[in-house]
Amino acid sequence: MTLENDKQLRHRAEKVIPNGMYGHQSVLLLPPETPQFFSKAKGAYLWDPDGNRYIDYLCGYGPQLLGYGHEEVDEAYIRQLKQIDVATGPTPLMVDLAEAWVGLVDHADWAMFCKNGTDATTIALMTARAYRGRKKVLIAQGAYHGAANWCTPFPDGTVPDDRAHLISYTYNDVASLEAAVEEAGDDLAAIFASPFKHDVLTEQQLPDPAYAKRARALCDEKDALLIVDEIRAGLRIARDASWSLIGVKPDLTSWGKSLANGHPISALLGNDKAKEAAGKIYVTGSFWFAGAAMAASMVTLKLIRESNYLEHMIAMGDRLRAGLNEIAERRGIEISQTGPSQMPLIMFPDGAGGFNMEIGYEFTTGLMRRGVYFHPWHNMFISAAMTADDIDLTLTAADEAITSLSHIAV
Ligand code: PMP
Repeated sequence: MTLENDKQLRHRAEKVIPNGMYGHQSVLLLPPETPQFFSKAKGAYLWDPDGNRYIDYLCGYGPQLLGYGHEEVDEAYIRQLKQIDVATGPTPLMVDLAEAWVGLVDHADWAMFCKNGTDATTIALMTARAYRGRKKVLIAQGAYHGAANWCTPFPDGTVPDDRAHLISYTYNDVASLEAAVEEAGDDLAAIFASPFKHDVLTEQQLPDPAYAKRARALCDEKDALLIVDEIRAGLRIARDASWSLIGVKPDLTSWGKSLANGHPISALLGNDKAKEAAGKIYVTGSFWFAGAAMAASMVTLKLIRESNYLEHMIAMGDRLRAGLNEIAERRGIEISQTGPSQMPLIMFPDGAGGFNMEIGYEFTTGLMRRGVYFHPWHNMFISAAMTADDIDLTLTAADEAITSLSHIAV
């Protein structure tokens, strides 16, 4: 396996792109043999500029739900692109799509469309503050809600005032949530939550129904809004908002990544209670109303309703999880696999309550060399394009990669 072309591109990028790359798609914090660039994608596979093929367990960090280059979705996108895309006003598709989303997601009475997940979470934050003219917003410690001033994980370029009215609490911890609500006093605008705890570098946690229900009750008591950020998990947990599975209806949900199977569109969905506030704030973008991604989203939503994509993803995730557990047990290595199996986070406990990143990086490198793209500390994504053969190839590669870890003390 050579990465010569990728290396040359990286050298060129360093000269004309800050750090050579930025944000979550920079590979600076990943093992050195991780390719930075990709030249081709189809179904479950990615090819780097050197022609190496990978079964891709990152799925573009989420957007690929049905697989890369899905024919039906892409045909709709291209057809619409040729007819009308970005224009002086939206196309009729915007109304169709808002109706389709409101029809799919039970808590929703209205929809607003934008481009990136951060657009949707920022509109949610503004809507919640406009709702009763309050300032305080509760955010779980370690949760990622995007890269705007109020939520970007690194402080450079922001000022403390950007987060002056954010209060943090511990996910799944009712007492900590109650204490944060108490601290907000009469000024509570919203509680933000992720569908499950999917922070990096730490075990994922499914939502404790007691926590989700308490968040709902506290918002009702204080007349504040409950916001669930579905950008990463949405459509991979349910054909509805993720907390529909535990009987909790948010007021607002932010969606992105997968709603047009890789085409650029995100959304904020809300209930009638939040509609007037959403109508008061001024938010917009030159590309937010573009038709082509909306056409792609219409087809994606149809496939979500009519295909078994979700059951298939869960079956493939379960197959991977069971196979990796079997290998780890046979090879005598401890493995941590957390979160829903269709959004797995795989790390290696260090025996002292943390994780052994050296093993994680070696394992990921071993897989990479064998044509499997894994991430050592971010949750991954199963796509509906993955087959049992892809999972079995992955397991064969994982068995070999784990065997070659034996030089590291485990
Ligand atoms: N919220 C969550 C939960 C996310 O995972 C992400 C993206 N990783 C965002 C918000 C921001 O989305 P985007 O990168 O499209 O702005």
